[in-house]
Amino acid sequence: MTSETCGICMGDGRISNSFGNLTTCPSCHGSGRRSDEGGYRDVTKTKPSHHKSAAAAAAKQTWPATAEGSVLAGEVRDSTLVAADAKTRLIQEIMDHENSHGRCTTTFVKKIRKQVRARVT
Ligand SMILES: [Zn+2]
Repeated sequence: MTSETCGICMGDGRISNSFGNLTTCPSCHGSGRRSDEGGYRDVTKTKPSHHKSAAAAAAKQTWPATAEGSVLAGEVRDSTLVAADAKTRLIQEIMDHENSHGRCTTTFVKKIRKQVRARVT
């Protein structure tokens, strides 16, 4: 790559000073390559680790992925009005709804809440 060649010495690694003597290039320190001011060496430093948990969640989903869905599922789980097997079914329904709509719609949240919340009069 030509862009990696040092622009000061043009890849020689040495330059002539004002006295006509060859001296080590101050920019590339004799390597003839452009210094790493471009930052391409930093790529390995910023490796994200959060992809791992996302992949694990996709493998077997047991809890809604969205914020609304998660809150709603928590309400289902903590509800004293529905049986354990019904809770499992409702939480599954939340995840199914998320997967087909991409999020939990307000109407859907209300529909689920009606079933798990004590009616406030
Ligand atoms: Zn140089």
